[in-house]
Amino acid sequence: MKNRYCAMLLFAGHSVVAGSLSNVGNIHLKGYIGDRLDAMISHQIVERDIDYITAPFAEKTERTERWQSEFWGKYMHAAMPYLVYTGSEKLGELVDRGVDSILASQEQSGYIGNYPDELRCGEGWDVWGMKYTMLGLIHYYDYMTRQKSADSREKASKAIAACRRLCDYVIAELGPNGKRGVELWKTGYWSGFASSSILEPVVWLYNRTDDRKYFDFATYIVKGMIEPAAGPRLLDLALKNVPVADRNGHGNKADTSGGYAIKNNRWKAYEMMSCYQGFIEYWSVVKAKPGLKPDVDWMKNPDDLLTAAVNSARDIIKEEVNLAGGCASSEAWFHGAKKQHHPYIHLQEACVTTTWMRMCEKLLEVTDDPGWADQLEKTFYNAYLAALSLDGKKFAAYTPLSGSRWRGMDHCYMHTDCCSANGPRGFLCFLKKFFYVHNGMMTFNFYSSSRAKGNLPDGRDVAFDMYSVYPRSNKARIVSHTEGVGVVPLRLRIPAWSKKTVVRLNKKELPGVKPGGYFTVNNEWRHGDVIEIEFDMPVVSHTVDQHVAFTRGPILLARDSRFADGDLMEPFRVGIENKWFMNRFFPVCIPSEDMWMAFSAVLPIGVHTENPEAVNPSTVFFCDYASAGNPWRRGNYYRTWFPVERNVHE
Ligand SMILES: [Zn+2]
Repeated sequence: MKNRYCAMLLFAGHSVVAGSLSNVGNIHLKGYIGDRLDAMISHQIVERDIDYITAPFAEKTERTERWQSEFWGKYMHAAMPYLVYTGSEKLGELVDRGVDSILASQEQSGYIGNYPDELRCGEGWDVWGMKYTMLGLIHYYDYMTRQKSADSREKASKAIAACRRLCDYVIAELGPNGKRGVELWKTGYWSGFASSSILEPVVWLYNRTDDRKYFDFATYIVKGMIEPAAGPRLLDLALKNVPVADRNGHGNKADTSGGYAIKNNRWKAYEMMSCYQGFIEYWSVVKAKPGLKPDVDWMKNPDDLLTAAVNSARDIIKEEVNLAGGCASSEAWFHGAKKQHHPYIHLQEACVTTTWMRMCEKLLEVTDDPGWADQLEKTFYNAYLAALSLDGKKFAAYTPLSGSRWRGMDHCYMHTDCCSANGPRGFLCFLKKFFYVHNGMMTFNFYSSSRAKGNLPDGRDVAFDMYSVYPRSNKARIVSHTEGVGVVPLRLRIPAWSKKTVVRLNKKELPGVKPGGYFTVNNEWRHGDVIEIEFDMPVVSHTVDQHVAFTRGPILLARDSRFADGDLMEPFRVGIENKWFMNRFFPVCIPSEDMWMAFSAVLPIGVHTENPEAVNPSTVFFCDYASAGNPWRRGNYYRTWFPVERNVHE
């Protein structure tokens, strides 16, 4: 990835009101991906029993340090952009009803949550829950401020007023000299990660109110993330390039006794990345308004904050992300990239997948480096779509690289869980960054059948239709519905894995296309102009510790027991990784509608080569990793990493 983030472009959609909903209305997905999105929105957003997730706020009976109070905020974080996307009247009524319940539950003190007073702002997930409630209220506010009616304005002002009162409550209890007498980072779990991640909505609140006290509180939270020796230490350890998996043992007690909620430990992936999300938001504000820069040591070079986030994300790519774009085992960093052929349990939690996609989305936004879109795409097509059931009704909590799939957990005595609540947010990262217009340039990061539109700075409209079954096929065709706007550059993301990409404008090949960057088409657009893109998408082998796996473009391939083509554990013969064998994969007809893509391959398999018949290669089948095991039945299993034969003389 190029080191471009210092020459910073502050990109569209952040640090501004309504930023949380940006770009969603510009794109409409069609085809396979569009159908999967529609099914998910229908079952998990529009059909949601809103009273089920708001009831705990009225009851306030949480005595076991659980996280019922995160479910509503996470729901709203997805529901409001999907309301923009669908315009669903039913969804509009649902979110209004939810907000009414939440506002009715707010106490005189400003508190919104489900913990009784004596247990608030301490151990457990109370601050975490308030973070999600703030995010939910701000999303609702952003949506309502975009509407024109007096009724919407009133709804917006009520929501932001409630959010302010909630934040004022947190400041009064846990801010400097707070009533609880404890610093915010010392509450909750994971060396301060969980509670400190409230930074993100605190900065959002500042951006929307311009009230200095929220910026000062944000600074106080960042201080807690940086200065205490036993705290999150998100700056110094990252600037020293300490891998995310090795952040323990630097001033914290690193309790690794095996319980789920661990007080003094820095290995929790989701919570750490959530903190960096806030870090980047805070950096954006200081960058936009240098006058706000606090006079502290760690602010001598404000860009250090972004560098810390970028260093950590790069380490995650190098050390943690597997070929499915997922990461973490038992929700913890563990240098997982080099262990991905092993049967680690609780692999790539959907919460981690979603949060990693959010981090890539944010880094793409602030750095304009398309390498982050490469990562987002890989995670989306593999770990993310694998976690989402084909009928769109549920998310898996964990998705192993080999094994079978199963739905998520029942958390907090409820028929939902953290992953089901987070899942719908993940698709938004793909949607928001699919197409946008910024600085007079148009950008396509992703390729799928869709209608994309946008506005130039002077207000004139642009629109394109994309026709593509990418990444099942290596082609995309973009048709212009834009005319009379003069020359407007259109940037196309060329993935790093596509070594020789061909781009044609009205059948004429354009020179200078390179992998791993944006390719800009400068054209005076007319109706019916056609861009055709052909990606270079061979099957590629990957080896780790005498195991082999195969990818094609962004897709990880898997064998699946539905093909009934033999023993999935049977080793490949030595030499399988040679490019020559990779040319023996062919796209074939899918065996049933529940698979997205299928390939046959003629490959050397098995170790008993003394038998002349066994010397012959075998025909075996592969599907895309997201389709593998997707009937979610125990009898259906799949495998992505395969052993390579061993020889006694090695
Ligand atoms: Zn989860």
